[in-house]
Amino acid sequence: MNAPASLTRDLRADFPGLVTREGEPWHYLDTAATSQKPRSVIDAMARAMGEDYATVHRGVYSRSADMTLAYEAARRRIAELVGGSENEIVFTRGATEAINLAANSWGRANLKAGDRILLSQLEHHSNIVPWQMVAEATGAQIDVIPLTDDHRIDLDAAEAMISSEHKLVALAHVSNVLGSVLDAKRAADMAHGVGANILLDGCQAVPHMPVNVAALDCDFYVFSAHKLYGPTGIGALWARAELLEAMPPWEGGGSMIDRVTFEKTTYDAAPQRFEAGTPAITEAIAFAAAVDYVSEVGLEQMHEDEAKLVAKLRRELTAMNDVTVFGPDDSAGIVSFAIDGIHPHDLGTILDEANVAIRAGHHCAQPLMDYLGVPATARASFGLYSTQADVDALLEGIARTRRIFGKD
Ligand code: PMP
Repeated sequence: MNAPASLTRDLRADFPGLVTREGEPWHYLDTAATSQKPRSVIDAMARAMGEDYATVHRGVYSRSADMTLAYEAARRRIAELVGGSENEIVFTRGATEAINLAANSWGRANLKAGDRILLSQLEHHSNIVPWQMVAEATGAQIDVIPLTDDHRIDLDAAEAMISSEHKLVALAHVSNVLGSVLDAKRAADMAHGVGANILLDGCQAVPHMPVNVAALDCDFYVFSAHKLYGPTGIGALWARAELLEAMPPWEGGGSMIDRVTFEKTTYDAAPQRFEAGTPAITEAIAFAAAVDYVSEVGLEQMHEDEAKLVAKLRRELTAMNDVTVFGPDDSAGIVSFAIDGIHPHDLGTILDEANVAIRAGHHCAQPLMDYLGVPATARASFGLYSTQADVDALLEGIARTRRIFGKD
């Protein structure tokens, strides 16, 4: 029996990327890095680049007017995904650019010497470095929340650390290394309790669970399309309307202005004020197609299926006495581990020979690696197309690697 996921067998057929060049099944376990794309997304992108293609927001001809409608419909679709409204969604190049936008616009306008920013030990570099840069520019300081024994962000510790000097809390909703799911509402209540805003890095959350920014009560929420079965080159910043309206632009150029003279330029309203230049038109349309696909499959169903694969893999790995498994048992679709005496890169290379793709490295989370006391981990991550066969192939590959290293 290969497929615990009720929908899995059909779903794999939607993804042309899930076979090797030789036409064999590819056990793709690197979805947390980037997901494979369903045919409907590829087709939507091809159509937008082909028979529907034109620029947006400027053309007086009907093709451009249609494209503008499609681009703005995509914005509405993305807003719907996270329970926000369309005027609160800024299209960005991805989560990284979305955090840089928040840091450079909101951060530079609102932070000053003496203010503090609260991050956690498990953040991705893209939720650390932009804040370090803005801290350096403004004189603000960064504090780091430690992790619990089972590698969650320790909110008890955070509550003891936070003070009225903290103006921003920025945390991963789901860790890209450990799969730990944040109690985001509790974190938001904590931030608001001292008058701080909270940014949630939802890159690894939106592909695994329904997200509603109103229920989470957050102020900023960021994510990337390419981890949600959509294209690279596009993502979104959702920001509470009052916050976004008050934020200054961070990049200047066409499409973000109201009136330009050499004496003074005035800017467009949000969100257009934050989208300088010709936007990623085809990517936005394909992003919306990805949201349609995921909504059709159902995020709850996906989460349930992935949880079974996580549980099985964690159980099997934990039973091996030379393997350390990181993260909590209820990790969202991500299992990081280390085998004594075998570097994750060697494991990854040997697995590749068996058509199993995992990620090996620091996963853009070097402070977390320091905390875990390892230079790197091996990481298997699941998507809606993952099956028991993928887990079995990984376990067989691990057994083979241990034999090659003389460990059996
Ligand atoms: N945050 C997290 C938790 C991530 O997993 C990633 C991607 N690995 C990012 C931020 C950055 O996303 P992107 O590279 O798409 O901008």
